[in-house]
Amino acid sequence: MPSCAFVTFGCKINQYDTQAIREEIIDLGYSESGEAEGVDLLVVNSCTVTERAGEKVVEKIRSLTRKNPNARIIVTGCMSETDRLRLEKIPEVVHLIGNEEKHRVAEVIQGEPLLDTKPKRRSRDIFNLKISGFEGRTRAFLKIQDGCDSFCSYCIIPYMRGASRSRDHGPVLEEARRLAAAGFSEVVLTGIHLRQWGLDLGIEDGLAALLGDLRRIEGLERVRLSSIGEGAFTKAFIDAFRADLGLCRFFHVPLQSGSDKILDRMRRDYSIEKFVEAMERVRDRLPDAVLATDVIVGFPGETEADFCLTLQLLERLQFLKVHLFPYSPRPRTSAARLDGHVPPETRAKRMVRARELCQQLQQRGLESRIGDRVQVLIEKGSPRGSTMVAEGLSREGLRVLVESSSAIEIERGSEVEALLHQREGAAIRAHLQSESVRERVAP
Ligand code: SF4
Repeated sequence: MPSCAFVTFGCKINQYDTQAIREEIIDLGYSESGEAEGVDLLVVNSCTVTERAGEKVVEKIRSLTRKNPNARIIVTGCMSETDRLRLEKIPEVVHLIGNEEKHRVAEVIQGEPLLDTKPKRRSRDIFNLKISGFEGRTRAFLKIQDGCDSFCSYCIIPYMRGASRSRDHGPVLEEARRLAAAGFSEVVLTGIHLRQWGLDLGIEDGLAALLGDLRRIEGLERVRLSSIGEGAFTKAFIDAFRADLGLCRFFHVPLQSGSDKILDRMRRDYSIEKFVEAMERVRDRLPDAVLATDVIVGFPGETEADFCLTLQLLERLQFLKVHLFPYSPRPRTSAARLDGHVPPETRAKRMVRARELCQQLQQRGLESRIGDRVQVLIEKGSPRGSTMVAEGLSREGLRVLVESSSAIEIERGSEVEALLHQREGAAIRAHLQSESVRERVAP
């Protein structure tokens, strides 16, 4: 039996796509090897969202070629769109398969030719990838959207993943049913721009209804969104979360900058006022929700005053998790041609200051949760009689370390109720309250 291994870089969509490719290749008769060493076939699902991300992919491929001298290497994902010349120089790479043909990896392995993908940036064939499980995970990612129509000035994703396309309602529900039947009690809806789900299908504001339909699937106790734009927080959307505890109250809402001037240069489609209004609506209607965000530090034109506005806004909105990215220019993007590039040393100093604030916000945010009862999906269990602490994720996205005074087993994949009592780094320690809370989930 030929052996294969998979290496995934980047976002949750790539992780979803790798899982779908894995299932197809295993169906061809390959056996998956845990170690990417001495295998016959290697599939690298690449990312090039920043310059450094692309460098890491090339470094990894070079180290894989040393450990797998006889392997055929297939590179798919965003780098196979943007860095073809660089990858073509590696002789072990036998195929570069762009995002629009990712669903054909198994066919190409069987000898089918690659097609010319360039004119097909709106093809719906990208949704031919399907999954029925999620290797090594207790929560499954479920792709409902791909591509983006926004063209923010710093971002190359629309060039790599084409136009925004929504997966049809029926196949989304079918896949969720398969995952629930396979024992996944949580799915994480993923997409490049989830708020755009439904627009190309003629559905306005359809996400709330889709969430409701997903929650009616037997066994699917928790539905989470990956990242979602501020424009999604309509009354219907927030009401859906108020009515159903199984919709996870964790919202990752990319802010990018606290300055309207910089948002304008980034070509983001909201103002600070709109963003703040949306977050305050969430705080008001869903007070226990956890908010997370992304911020780009040192975007061209960012002055000290702009940067301070960002820090002030992070503090005002009390984000519990902030992903900070130092700006890095990407070829083909209009931001790379803007004036006012921030010197690297200024950018680095601002990163340090932003990190300090975000750490404080996280500490304060976690400590404010002490005394709450939360439902934790266990990712690392603790065997019966052991002193090991089980670990999992609460519905609000908190990392929780669950301690039990009795000798019971806290099983991986179960959902338990726990009382938060002490912060530990970026996690919170909690006492086990009940072994299963599934019957407490709102209908
Ligand atoms: S919304 Fe902007 S940042 Fe996000 S993928 Fe689209 S272009 Fe990139």
